[in-house]
Amino acid sequence: MTQPYRIEPDLDFVRDVIGSGGDTLKKCFQCATCSVVCPLSPPEEPFPRKEMIQAQWGLKDKLVKDPDIWLCHNCNDCSTYCPRGAKPGDVMNALRKKAIEHYAAPQAIAKRVGDPKSLPLLIAIPAILIAVLIGLTNLWWHGEGPTRVVHGETIVLDESIRSWEMIPMWTVDVLFILTGLFAVSVFARGVLRFWGDMDSARTRKMGFIPAAIEVVKEIAFHSNFKECGTNQDRYLGHLGVFYGFVALFITTSCIFAGVYFLNLIVHVPLTPWPLWNPVKLLGNLGGISLLVGLFLIIRNRLNQEGDETASSYYDWFLLGMVITVGASGMLAEIVRWMGIGFLYYILYYIHLVAVWSLFAYTPYSKLAHIVYRTTALIHNRACGRELLAKVPVVCMTEGQETQAS
Ligand code: SF4
Ligand code: SF4
Repeated sequence: MTQPYRIEPDLDFVRDVIGSGGDTLKKCFQCATCSVVCPLSPPEEPFPRKEMIQAQWGLKDKLVKDPDIWLCHNCNDCSTYCPRGAKPGDVMNALRKKAIEHYAAPQAIAKRVGDPKSLPLLIAIPAILIAVLIGLTNLWWHGEGPTRVVHGETIVLDESIRSWEMIPMWTVDVLFILTGLFAVSVFARGVLRFWGDMDSARTRKMGFIPAAIEVVKEIAFHSNFKECGTNQDRYLGHLGVFYGFVALFITTSCIFAGVYFLNLIVHVPLTPWPLWNPVKLLGNLGGISLLVGLFLIIRNRLNQEGDETASSYYDWFLLGMVITVGASGMLAEIVRWMGIGFLYYILYYIHLVAVWSLFAYTPYSKLAHIVYRTTALIHNRACGRELLAKVPVVCMTEGQETQAS
């Protein structure tokens, strides 16, 4: 028998959800069409109908620890078929933003990342930090001269344009390692709290490792994403961005390992490496995959806006950061190849600011979904909560006689 539940509405939370893209929340009249058409909703305790009413009632404590908000891939099939135009897909998106804010510490940063008025401050912090570092190291591009000491040997550099003439590579590496450690610690704290909250609500039937292996396979093939009906092209865009990030991560790790560790055993040439170098090739392919994926996602998003589907500032903040990282990195490489030193140093500076922002703000931005969604998927799999059997669903709403499958 269902136990009585004392409702303690949080009206600020309702206002926040409405202000975060869930402005149609109050239109829901609980018909459950959304849960029926959702291709990812499990048969037991399906979403997003229950999240709609919980959000209307302001049940923040239930919603922020609800793994189901992370099982949603924002395909918007539910919004397409909702007879009231309540756009449950957008509400789920807003709930994920509130969950990230709840688990990321300090919450003051999380609130600023989600607030358009704080954008100038968020850009100014890395812009000033990196400018000060450049000034302090006193190595503007003509400052160091054409030689460099490596392992006690003085190496004569050629005349090509090199990033360390603006700022030494070790300075950049130390800054990014410290920023990365900060991001990892914010994630670790948030994920541990989230896992504990989920564990208190459901019992696990499978070990963490087997569940994690299944989830990694699912993510690698984006198998859940493929189930979306309305937004099929979003699947390709997301796949491009995902594998672009993976390739760039491998490239950065190889360069880091080559310069600092492999160099102790064998000689590894200093960067920049030639275009035909396999690591460089992988990095360039990753950059292209990232930009193509972003193009598809943005095109899809703009088309949705034409269909009156809300797109929040939170989404655009992440897209803007990733575009700036990808575009500034590739443009810097092109102008360096063309020998335009002045433009190269400006683009490299913008690239550093963008990469630092991506590192530092990731635990508070929409990109944090990578971590929280993976955690929720693992917990879900470990609890034996299976997705809905893939059966065709016929939806007949006013003006719509389309078959969703
Ligand atoms: S389909 Fe729309 S009105 Fe019906 S329960 Fe879902 S959100 Fe509410
Ligand atoms: S946006 Fe897609 S995945 Fe999310 S609840 Fe709606 S139908 Fe399901």
